[in-house]
Amino acid sequence: MRPLIASIRLDHFRHNYLLARQQHGGRALAVVKANAYGHGAVRCAQAVADVADGFAVACLEEALQLRAGGIAGPILLLEGVFEAAELAEVQAHGLWLVVQNREQLDMLLATPAEHPYRVWLKMDSGMHRAGFFPADYAAAYQRLAASGKADAIVKMTHFARADEPGCDATALQLAAFDAAVAGLPGDCSVANSAGIMIHPPAHRDWGRPGIMLYGSTPLPDGHAANVGLKPVMRLASRVFGVRELSAGEPVGYGASFVTTRPTRVGLIAGGYADGYPRLASTGSPVAVDGQHSRIIGRVSMDMITIDLTDLPQAGIGSEVELWGEQISVNAVAAHAGTISYELLCNVKRAHLQYLD
Ligand SMILES: *Cc1c(COP(=O)(O)O)cnc(C)c1O
Repeated sequence: MRPLIASIRLDHFRHNYLLARQQHGGRALAVVKANAYGHGAVRCAQAVADVADGFAVACLEEALQLRAGGIAGPILLLEGVFEAAELAEVQAHGLWLVVQNREQLDMLLATPAEHPYRVWLKMDSGMHRAGFFPADYAAAYQRLAASGKADAIVKMTHFARADEPGCDATALQLAAFDAAVAGLPGDCSVANSAGIMIHPPAHRDWGRPGIMLYGSTPLPDGHAANVGLKPVMRLASRVFGVRELSAGEPVGYGASFVTTRPTRVGLIAGGYADGYPRLASTGSPVAVDGQHSRIIGRVSMDMITIDLTDLPQAGIGSEVELWGEQISVNAVAAHAGTISYELLCNVKRAHLQYLD
């Protein structure tokens, strides 16, 4: 068996969920969209099903996977529905849905329904991606309320820059939201992970933690609020080839790395076809049998070359952590010019192993 393994600590997932909800107060939807950020949505949801207040996914297909996996609690569709035919499934499976523009609202009101919906009515308080503008929000809310099609309306918005400590955009979004929902009954939900971690005024009735559930922080390294999160995924492989090169020899595609000293190169199973980012090439951190080293040369589709020169005891069979407890996924993401979210979501082909 190819030795690239993504091991998933479901106990850490559960710990992080409980921590997120405790930091937020009130209730929290566990955001498990995109196959739980690459961790396996059904397994993660099952691991907290007895304690979670509900789940959030992007779309109907993801919600149906959870239902098929035995998840009976509330599931919110964060993008709402894309066509009226999906509304019958929303009804049949008792799903909650976001309504974020006039077209979605028209569709909902025009489609006959047996039961009332639980609608999360989204406001664009400044991110300018989805949601009703503050000036249009109350009218949309009243239309929905007057239709009798919703048994409850949750007022929601989403932050663009909550992960930037000291940035005032979040307070401005919150002020716009509060002004526009004033007097409209129902619960509120505004905080994503960063909102939960560093914006207490954003703690309302419902939190929506995502990335923090997987033990990765959206905040800059070393931020005090990062404490307590436990990484859920550990991506690790093994050395299956070793070669000795003299100084001045190229390594890998494009000869992007050239040795400057006699170098022992370890070859490991894993590459960009597994979701390891190609842009995280020479210099990206790895841990070999617990000791820090680095990638040398380009990441290729199936293989990665690492520097074993200073680790003489390492060789074929040595275990290499690509990210996990020792190597933070955020550090790898920084080397690739991206964020941990993208790396975690992209993991594929690796064998998934679940540890309770
Ligand atoms: C993905 C998502 C979240 C979770 O965001 P994190 O930064 O991962 O905590 C919360 N709310 C909405 C609307 C989302 O789409």
